[in-house]
Amino acid sequence: MIIGRALQGAAARSGGAGGGPSTRTLWHWRCECGAYSRGGDPFKADAEYNAQRHMWRKGVGHPMPEIYSTEEELA
Ligand SMILES: [Zn+2]
Repeated sequence: MIIGRALQGAAARSGGAGGGPSTRTLWHWRCECGAYSRGGDPFKADAEYNAQRHMWRKGVGHPMPEIYSTEEELA
């Protein structure tokens, strides 16, 4: 019952019971020019897209920002 386990995991997140993961990964970007992402995205592709938008907005020759991830504690 894979679906049942997934639902249990979601319930554990709010109830505090169970041994599920206590962190989640957030993706960010930061640029050589000093700009950086705000908040963070749960999907790497979103962070990459936002980084590309920054690069495009700055124009030709601007460096591609660095993509990195952080582990955020779940309350
Ligand atoms: Zn930049």
